[in-house]
Amino acid sequence: MPAIRSQILEVVRDAYPETFEGLGSSKPLGESIFSGRTPHPNEVLNLFVQQKLTSALPMAYYMATRRGLNSLMGKHLPRDATLSPEVLQSAIAGLIALRELELNETHDLIFEPDGSRPCSISNCPSRTPTGPAALAAYHRVFDRVVGSSQSGTKILQVPEFYEDCGGELQCVGPGICGSCVGRWESGHAELRKKVWGMLPDVFGLKG
Ligand SMILES: [Zn+2]
Repeated sequence: MPAIRSQILEVVRDAYPETFEGLGSSKPLGESIFSGRTPHPNEVLNLFVQQKLTSALPMAYYMATRRGLNSLMGKHLPRDATLSPEVLQSAIAGLIALRELELNETHDLIFEPDGSRPCSISNCPSRTPTGPAALAAYHRVFDRVVGSSQSGTKILQVPEFYEDCGGELQCVGPGICGSCVGRWESGHAELRKKVWGMLPDVFGLKG
């Protein structure tokens, strides 16, 4: 049944893209594409490893690791979601590497903007980057981008720097201007792309 096989592979390719461009689509990604009971991401990873679906493995590893250690090796996992020692080892090593990258690079992005050009918007706290107002705002932004990923990672997700304040969109760091946020957005977009390129390496998938 080659037609069915290629159709299934097409669906998998959409949800577990091989290229960075595939991530940008508004299509659902990961285990949410399966109809009926949504499988545990580890189950999907196990299946892809068994079936040698090499092209989908970086994304499948990412989907399994982004929920953190408990999801990778918790006591209450369904049987099919238990990872083999080899896969578990790769997943944990990858999670640690991604988490480190996420924390360090986001920190640098927000707390250490290119010092040579201070923000030109007169009332933006970033004009005094080490002042208390700027630091408080930076901390809130940093927490929003990486803090809520807890022990996992959401480094491939597009961060939300704005929140709805009574119908008006405002930066999650009080007072930070649009051009500073724009700089963070483009910096984080580059980070996502860089991290995507590193996934095979990070999860030990390069033979
Ligand atoms: Zn600014």
